[in-house]
Amino acid sequence: MMDEAAADLTNDASTDYPLLELVRQYGRADSHYLMGAVGSAAVKSFIGFADVFLIGIAIDALFNDQPLALPLLPDAWIPTATEPLLTLVFVGTLVIAVNAVTVFGGALAEFSFGVFAQRILHRIRVHAFDAAQHRRLDYFDAHRTGDVMSALNDDINQLESFFAVLISATVWIVVTLVAAIVYMSVLNWQLAVFVLLSGPFIAVLNSWFSRRIEPLQDGVRRERGALNALLETSLDGIGVVKAFTGEAHEYDRVESASRDHVRARFRSRRLAVRQAPLNRLVAGMWLLATLAIGVYWILVGPPVLFTGSLTTGELVPFLFYMERITLPLKNLSGVIDGYTSAKAAAKRIDGVTDGESEGECEIADDTSNSGFAVENSHVCFENVTFHYSNGAQPAIESVSFAVESGETVGVVGATGAGKSTAVKLLLGLYDSDDGTITIDGEDIRNVPVRCLRSAIGYVNQDAFLFNDTVRYNIAYGADGAVSDEQVREAARLAGVHDDITELLRGYDTEVGERGTSLSGGQRQRIAIARAVVDDPEILILDEATSHVDTKTERIIQDQLSDLVADRTTCVIAHRLSTVRTADRILVLDDGEIVERGTHEELLEYDGTYATLWNVQIGIADASTA
Ligand code: ADP
Repeated sequence: MMDEAAADLTNDASTDYPLLELVRQYGRADSHYLMGAVGSAAVKSFIGFADVFLIGIAIDALFNDQPLALPLLPDAWIPTATEPLLTLVFVGTLVIAVNAVTVFGGALAEFSFGVFAQRILHRIRVHAFDAAQHRRLDYFDAHRTGDVMSALNDDINQLESFFAVLISATVWIVVTLVAAIVYMSVLNWQLAVFVLLSGPFIAVLNSWFSRRIEPLQDGVRRERGALNALLETSLDGIGVVKAFTGEAHEYDRVESASRDHVRARFRSRRLAVRQAPLNRLVAGMWLLATLAIGVYWILVGPPVLFTGSLTTGELVPFLFYMERITLPLKNLSGVIDGYTSAKAAAKRIDGVTDGESEGECEIADDTSNSGFAVENSHVCFENVTFHYSNGAQPAIESVSFAVESGETVGVVGATGAGKSTAVKLLLGLYDSDDGTITIDGEDIRNVPVRCLRSAIGYVNQDAFLFNDTVRYNIAYGADGAVSDEQVREAARLAGVHDDITELLRGYDTEVGERGTSLSGGQRQRIAIARAVVDDPEILILDEATSHVDTKTERIIQDQLSDLVADRTTCVIAHRLSTVRTADRILVLDDGEIVERGTHEELLEYDGTYATLWNVQIGIADASTA
């Protein structure tokens, strides 16, 4: 079921050539490393073929009385046929020089590919993370966090082998094949044509394999994403798993997801392992046929369709070259396998960074409106309607209200009435389907999210804390750019300063993963301190007191008048006592505002609010309760 619900990142990719796109986008600044690497790898592979060619020429000069004919070298340098020892030393020196160039070129290529790979990976990783964190929240509703993490982690690591090894292997294969054709044509073009006839067979064979392997690789990646997501949710909810002794159930789920992953991997490998032997078979048959033709040609004369002469010094290097092509051909399947994996990985990364999916990106900071600053903090909702992408009913429908500067508005209603949704729309976490939300008269769609959110202090019931010190968590509300005094002041305002000073290391106490070393009430008040540390113009408390003990609630309640002073405040509360003193109270039901007014007015109206109030203070008649 999870698999169906989660949109596949691969399908989000916006390009059919994701690897090329990645190099184009992120590799430009280091293209000199890439070109240097490709150039030295090509020179290395091409020059590396000269050794056997030289040996062939030496054989003909020493045993077949032919002149030492070396292209590109001046005749004056070349020893004559009457000096066999000199010929041997001369050719030997050239072979050593060829090997030296090969070794040096190889080292240079490896170094440059390595530098290029690390630099481009760094850029891709950082950019992909940033793109992911700037997605609107509906993106994370539609994609499992495990999938996104796997793209940012596994898939980027997968690309390392592509940039560091596979490109170089591809250059090696291509240049080796080209070099072999060039050297073979120089030796004997007719035999070279015969060898080239094997090309179409091998090409058809390999493209057949790669077409079939690619979708299997996508399958492997999908299963791995599912496994990652499962591991993450199981460990995330480890407390619940233990409390309900769900270990055996979790084990079964992980076991089954792991088995699916193994199966998918097996399917793709099973096909891939057949590729190399088949290539080898075709190449081996061609080598045997060439040997037979060559030997017949030297001993008897040109076979049918061939003309001219062939010497031993030509045939021997020729056979060597054919043998040398088989190694790259043998590696071809591995390279294609690696290339399809890398392509699938790149597609998923593209799905995170550029893909066209429902979760569009948020408004960037550098829009023309970046100078916008909230001053009066006058908030207005006009006929706002919003559906979650996976929800059938609108979560809020035709909601209109205005909050004047400095006013405190309470929002109440049953669970699921749409209270949090309204707040998330105001924060720009989601974009409304219809209607407009304005701050100081400006549509928030035109306000960069950074300006918008820095003007709003937001506390929700989760009170998520980062695994760092208390000070870090409070200062986070102002990008860390606040003095210790401001941190303490915010803590005092949130009524948590005394609790913090009683901790073992005060403000330097580590709060543990998600703040587990603190009580729920302390966490909640630290979250409030974080929201007010940079003195925001607007404060939103979203059920900030719903899950705390009554003592903590009283502390927060006592602090509330200080917290809301001079601020536009929106308090969402389950307990109506929290919003009793608000300037205005909105009652939401099924996504619509059904009542509005002060506490007294609403009691007098004797509608939904009055009923809820009576239930909460315990004077409702038994049949209603
Ligand atoms: P409240 O804060 O009043 O409890 P919410 O605003 O959280 O209500 O939810 C309003 C409606 O939207 C509910 O029906 C809820 O199930 C639905 N909803 C909330 N969050 C999501 C989400 N991320 N994806 C889909 N539906 C959601």
